[in-house]
Amino acid sequence: MRRAVVLGGSVAGLLAARVLSDHADEVIVLERDDIAPSGDFGGGQGPRPGVPQGTQMHALLDAGRRKIDHWLPGFATEIVADGAALADTGTDVHSYLEGRLKVLVGGVEMISATRPFLESHLRRRVLALGNLRLVTGRVRGLAFTGDRVSGVRYLGGQPADAGDMAGGVADEELLDADLVVDATGRASRIGAWLQEGGWPEPQTRRMHVDLGYATALFRRPEGSDGATLAQSLATLPDGRLRLGTLGRVEGDRWIALVAGYADDRPGRGMEEFLLRCKEDPAAPFRRLAEDGEPIGEPVAYRHPDNRRRDFHRLDRFPAGLLAIGDTLASFNPIYGQGMSSAAIHASCLAAHLESGRSPRDPAWSYFKQVRAVVDDAWQTSAVNDLKLPHVTGPRPRGFKVAARLSDLIVRASVTDPVIHRRFLDVAHMLSPVKTLMRPGTVLRAARAVRKQDTPAAGAPLDVTV
Ligand SMILES: Cc1cc2nc3c(=O)[nH]c(=O)nc-3n(C[C@H](O)[C@H](O)[C@H](O)COP(=O)(O)OP(=O)(O)OC[C@H]3O[C@@H](n4cnc5c(N)ncnc54)[C@H](O)[C@@H]3O)c2cc1C
Repeated sequence: MRRAVVLGGSVAGLLAARVLSDHADEVIVLERDDIAPSGDFGGGQGPRPGVPQGTQMHALLDAGRRKIDHWLPGFATEIVADGAALADTGTDVHSYLEGRLKVLVGGVEMISATRPFLESHLRRRVLALGNLRLVTGRVRGLAFTGDRVSGVRYLGGQPADAGDMAGGVADEELLDADLVVDATGRASRIGAWLQEGGWPEPQTRRMHVDLGYATALFRRPEGSDGATLAQSLATLPDGRLRLGTLGRVEGDRWIALVAGYADDRPGRGMEEFLLRCKEDPAAPFRRLAEDGEPIGEPVAYRHPDNRRRDFHRLDRFPAGLLAIGDTLASFNPIYGQGMSSAAIHASCLAAHLESGRSPRDPAWSYFKQVRAVVDDAWQTSAVNDLKLPHVTGPRPRGFKVAARLSDLIVRASVTDPVIHRRFLDVAHMLSPVKTLMRPGTVLRAARAVRKQDTPAAGAPLDVTV
């Protein structure tokens, strides 16, 4: 290819650009925020407007860590040397179910850092590639030639000066391309852009989960916790489900997240934040409320829905166009799958390009491959989200059985190291969900739950499957 253009310069866009740099003479990343090294957001490590979720807790799962290290060798070592934490599930990642610490099993590693820190490291590595160029501008639409996308229409400059002007519109510019990759995220306008060119738009499936997040930073005394990363899932006596994550990040700080659904969304104040930590039965959260010194106020964030765009169901699609990352699917963030999904999509992109298929044909093989990745992550998220009483569905066929099996595995993972390791492999996107449904795993989990002296939570589980 002569030129590939990536729309959006966040995690998915940067990883797509890295892959494309092996296949195109020139790769252009078109991003509306000024993320050039000398730009408003390029040098700094604070959140930026184009990635509002950047204020919230982000952890990189093992699949993402491995994939990013594959595409950018030494990435994990580099970011850890700069202050991020590398946490091994055998020692430093403590998971709690209803306040009970799960048995520790090693071999799965994750990275804990603030999201802007992680992204800035990725950006520095990718922008250093010789055949890559960054253009600051806002995408307005696609250009079509016959049956293919032949470029991108955009407004140069940052949103403040590139938006609609009083009484008129700033001049649109055109970038021609052999391949365009949409990485503009969950709010992508790709459907409208396709329609403008006379193409059908992909169906967008949404699941309203109404999740509320609040994230805050803390300083803590040396040695205040045995874990580098702690996760908690707990049900309050009145039935509300509470989720929390706590991790050491760069700058010797701790980042903490508290989350709840629907009317139980956390607010913005520190007092409420600390109260939620105290209410959590997992010890690290109560300790944080006692020994943590807050840095600033918590930042709240609302995630209304999970969504996925079903490109694979279209019967017509132009050549020269692909989508990656949250544009394809964005899930309940509590499972932390987004950046790892983007990294796996990037590998699917590489496989597609290496297969020798021409960018002048529609990328059906790519959409087929990423569908499997999306299906798996969607299933992990959907099976659990559909158990929530306020989530209306639709519940797919076989949901009840899947939900009971998933409860069984989660309960068993508290005490059984083999089940916990299999669970971690799926949670970290190293193995497909179906591995947890194998008869041997289910039987072992059922035995483990029976053996537990006291059930881990709520009423004893009926393990008859
Ligand atoms: C609250 C929350 C917590 C999360 N926690 C985790 C976690 O712990 N672990 C994890 O792996 N993932 C997590 N995620 C998911 C993660 O943030 C995303 O999956 C990840 O950023 C990949 O997204 P992306 O690059 O596809 O899109 P985004 O990160 O949304 O980036 C889209 C980019 O496109 C640009 N853009 C948009 N429109 C235009 C336009 N018209 N023109 C030019 N540029 C444009 C934006 O400025 C931005 O840079 C979380 C998400 C949320 C909401």
